[in-house]
Parts: sequence; structure tokens; C-alpha cells
Amino acid sequence: MEFKSINPYNGQEVGHYTSHSQSELTSKLDKAGKVFHSWRNVSLSERANLMMKAGKVLKDNVEEYAKMITLEMGKPIKESRAEVNKCAWVCEYYATNAEQFLKDEIIETDAQKSLVKHEPIGCVFAVMPWNFPFWQVFRYAAPTLMAGNTGVLKHAANVFGCAEKIEEVFTKAGFPEGVFQNLIVHHDQSEKIISHPSVKAVTLTGSERAGSAVAALAGKYLKKSLLELGGSNAFIVWEDADLDQAVKTAVSARMMNCGQSCIAAKRFILIESIYDEFVSKFTKAITELKSADPMNEETEIGTLARKDLADELHEQIQKSLDLGAKLIHGGKQKECYHEPTILGDVKPGMPAFDEETFGPLAAMIKAKDEIDAFRLSELSAYGLGVTVCTTNIEKALSMSNQVSDGAYFINEFVKSDPRLPFGGTKKSGYGRELAKDGMMEFINRKTIYIK
Ligand code: NAP
Repeated sequence: MEFKSINPYNGQEVGHYTSHSQSELTSKLDKAGKVFHSWRNVSLSERANLMMKAGKVLKDNVEEYAKMITLEMGKPIKESRAEVNKCAWVCEYYATNAEQFLKDEIIETDAQKSLVKHEPIGCVFAVMPWNFPFWQVFRYAAPTLMAGNTGVLKHAANVFGCAEKIEEVFTKAGFPEGVFQNLIVHHDQSEKIISHPSVKAVTLTGSERAGSAVAALAGKYLKKSLLELGGSNAFIVWEDADLDQAVKTAVSARMMNCGQSCIAAKRFILIESIYDEFVSKFTKAITELKSADPMNEETEIGTLARKDLADELHEQIQKSLDLGAKLIHGGKQKECYHEPTILGDVKPGMPAFDEETFGPLAAMIKAKDEIDAFRLSELSAYGLGVTVCTTNIEKALSMSNQVSDGAYFINEFVKSDPRLPFGGTKKSGYGRELAKDGMMEFINRKTIYIK
């Protein structure tokens, strides 16, 4: 089977890739299991040394890797560079902190001594999406490999060029062959991979459809799974907020990566009294964003990654308009490009409220008061994160229990940081990535007891 990656900006082919044969796939999976037995015995300081080198390879080749990201999925080149540098950060973070995270935990009991040891489990299979094609992979790979596990990756089919470069990072850094392998396969090979004895767990970042399919297979073969799925984050603005600052934060929260982010703010829930002023300031800021060739330095809005994604967003907008939403700005689509769009008077029952909208669409929603804003926020099937903008930080903090999501940010958009746990609730998935939590997901916490 052949895979092609296509530049969404101009339709040109970026690369083509031939899938592994069944025997090639089996031999890669066998290797992941075999290499695990030696990799787990490599000292933590040597693993840290290699992971630091991976960070350096990323930084030394930032232009080449950023270019591949932009060519394959259309994000502005400046954002691609930032993504590669963030990957270097997560490598350095785990290289520096793994020893502390993995150290024995002594627990006082009636035993002479009792403790918990942290040991790797084997090969962890990753199924990853195209929207942050480097970052999603490194935030899984850095803690997983540092813990002494091996990894195999099935990347999204439109970013196989990025997948190849990622494998190259680990090779150039000097990781032993087989510790991290890129698999060029269709997703219909998931069962073969998950059922293989070398594979002990699976992590997936992507849609609910893919998450549910992979989790079902993990259940069938009794392997652990972690899911990072979609989101429809609420961005709540209270009456007392600094509106100029809130608008600035809101624009980044929605338009970064051309709106193709699981943790992007998608539903702007505004207290009635500030609705008009916020919407007018937000609209002005959106009209100033530059849409152009994503390879240009000044570009702020590129294209969506594929035409079917732009079509889907356009359809969600049309259906919301049919159901009574108001078009405030934008609304047009051309091939993979979709204009930044603002819909007003969005309500539950409309796709712009109920569904994940994966592109540059901001839905404006009115709330009567703070409690009503949280009620509307909670009327979502997703649970990645919520932002509240206010000058009353104490009050916002005291109301954090109104939110059932995995994150609650005050005066900042929801973002990932290697030092903080990241993950969702409800249909946004389960498990946590990043920080110590991310490393503990694929670890055997072994209890030791000495009478
Ligand atoms: P997707 O279609 O679910 O694809 C994600 C990955 O899953 C790809 O590698 C894809 O392979 C694979 N896949 C698709 N169907 C599968 C199946 N039936 N069995 C096994 N694997 C399957 O998602 P996407 O469109 O690439 O990414 C966008 C979605 O990811 C959004 O919903 C977004 O919110 C979510 N996301 C979540 C997070 C988070 O941290 N929570 C972060 C980023 C993105 P193919 O390419 O071969 O189909």
C-alpha cells in the first residue's frame, strides 16, 4: 500500500511511502521486544544523556523539521519552529527529572522494610494525530523511553514525513536501534500490533472514533490504554475581566494552529453585560490576522491540514446558521483554507456548541451570570479544560469545583507544559501525559515487602 503526503496549501506531493509488508512489521515488533531487555538495563544516566542529545538534535535541525511540519499539515512556519523547540524542552525535562520520578518510594508498614519500585513494562505502541505532528509524539516518547520502555509509532497517514524525521532524531542522538521505531502501516494493522507479545500498552491521541476502536482492541488483548481525545473547551469571561487582555488571550486560544487543537478554546461563554463589547473587540482582532502561505514568516493563519477537514468545519457552520446562529465574521471556504469565522448567539443543540469544531471558528455564547456560565460550560460531552477571565482570582479559584474537566486555567488559555499533568475527562479520554503522572502511566509500580 502507498501513502502520500500532500501540501494542503498548494496540493503538491511532499512525499510518498510504501507500507511495511506483514513480515517487516512482525520483525519490527519482535525487535521492539528484544531490544527492551537490553534497553531497560541501560543506566538512567546514560538514557538521560541520550535524551539530552535528542533535544540537541531537535534544536540543531529546527529549520528542517519545522519545514516538514508546515509542508505536510499547513501550520504557519513560526508555529512549527515553536513546536520543534517545545519537543526539545520535553526531552530535556525528562532527561533531568526521570531519576527523581523513578526513585524507590519507601512506605512504613509492619514490615522490616516495604517500598515501591518503578520498572518499565515493555514496548508502548503510539497512535498519533497530525495536528501537532512532532509534539504529540515527543510528549509520549520522552517519558516512555526514559522509563526504560521501547516505543513503536503509527503516525497519521498525512504526516509520514514527520514520522520519518522523528525516528531520525532518536537515531542521530545515538539511541540503540529498535528503541524507537516508526511503523509505516495503515491503521487497520492496529489489531496485529496490539496483539503482538512485545506490545504491553497503547496510547492514542486523536478522535473519539479512533480512540474507541483502539481501546476496544486493548481491552480484547488485556493491554493498558491511554486516550487523549477531542475537546470543546469553554473560555468564560466574567464582567470584571480586563477585556483587552481577555480578547488577546482568546484570539491565541482559538486561532493558534489554525484552530486545530484539542485544547483550543472553542466556546466563548460571555456574561450578557460584556457580550457586545467582547465580541466587537474580538472581531476587530480577528480581522487583523494575516492569512497567507504558511511558509511566509508573517503568516498567522495557514490552511487546514486536509480538504475534508475544511469541508467538515464548513458544514458545522452552515448547520449552526440554519439553527439560528448569527454570522458575525468570515464563513467562506476555498479548498483547504477556511476563513476565521465568528458565530454569535450560539446555543446548545447547534453543532458549534455540541460538537468539536476543528478549525478557525469561534462560537459566542451568552450567559446570565457566573453560575450560568459554568452550567453552559458543563453542557459538553468533552472535558479537556476551561479558562475563566476575571480580576477576582480568589473567587475564580473557589469555584474551580464547578468544572469537571482535566484543567482549569485562570486568565490564561489552556496549554500543555512538560511540568504539569495533561489529560481529559468524559469523552476527552483518560489517563495523564506529561509531568511525573505521564511517566507513571507505563510503569510497573512493584511492591517489595521484607518481613
Ligand atoms: P484521527 O482521525 O482519530 O487520527 C488519529 C490517529 O488515529 C491517526 O494515526 C489515525 O490513522 C488513527 N486512526 C484513525 N482511525 C483509526 C482506527 N479505527 N483504528 C486505529 N487507528 C485509527 O484524528 P485526527 O483527525 O488525526 O486528529 C484530530 C483529533 O485528535 C481531534 O479530535 C483532536 O481533538 C484530537 N486530539 C486530541 C489531543 C489531546 O491531547 N487530547 C491532542 C491533539 C488532537 P490514519 O491517519 O491512518 O487514519
